[in-house]
Amino acid sequence: MRRMLLLISAMLVPAISQMATAQVDPKWKIHDMDRPLPPVVDPGTPSTQDSAGRPPSDAVVLFDGKDLSHWKFGNGTPASWKVENGYMEVEPKSGSIQTRETFGDCQLHVEFREPTPPSGEGQDRGNSGVFLMGMYEIQVLDSYQNRTYADGQSAAIYGQYPPLVNASRPPGQWQSYDIVFHGPRFGKDEKLLKPARVTILHNGVLVQDNVEPSGPTGHHMRPPYKMQPAKLPLSLQAHHNPIRFRNVWIRELKME
Ligand code: MG
Repeated sequence: MRRMLLLISAMLVPAISQMATAQVDPKWKIHDMDRPLPPVVDPGTPSTQDSAGRPPSDAVVLFDGKDLSHWKFGNGTPASWKVENGYMEVEPKSGSIQTRETFGDCQLHVEFREPTPPSGEGQDRGNSGVFLMGMYEIQVLDSYQNRTYADGQSAAIYGQYPPLVNASRPPGQWQSYDIVFHGPRFGKDEKLLKPARVTILHNGVLVQDNVEPSGPTGHHMRPPYKMQPAKLPLSLQAHHNPIRFRNVWIRELKME
């Protein structure tokens, strides 16, 4: 028995130490002066309630407060939500909008403002959504003193993961999502290798910690993953409410 245990631990120790060092690139010695330095990025400036900040210098700016040239409707026609005073506003009857470009793994920054005075209750108060790859919804809702189901409140992965805390600001104030997203990976046989992963800061507070969606999000449904392209448009939802968005930018991450 003892020999058996020794044998097992002898097999495990190298496996564990290999796992622990797997992330460090073996090409470079520790503190190697020849190791290439990361690119320099101007980090921009944070937003205030009065004005949008400046995105990091290497971000793709999807909305700078001036026009919707990066966006279209689902049928391909140019997006025509109202743009004024540095924000765009959902036109509930005109439909959701999506980016012309496609994205996979990314860091995404979105700012939104819920209508004031608030109207409606539950899911009908200030509903919109940020759809990563057009199919994984980060709920946008006025969740300030507005009860709804936990997996449908603001910053929920809709129908799957409630946020860790409710970090909502009152309606009429600008709020932010900072999202780190890794898309799902599929094998050559189109089978799922790795689910998507999502981390979200809502107004700077961690609300989703590297969670793995069960598949695309939906209302009363959790469909499984299906083989999908590595990059797809990002979309913003037109529900029934005039949510405003500003300062939308994205940084693509290297896909491994
Ligand atoms: Mg929604």
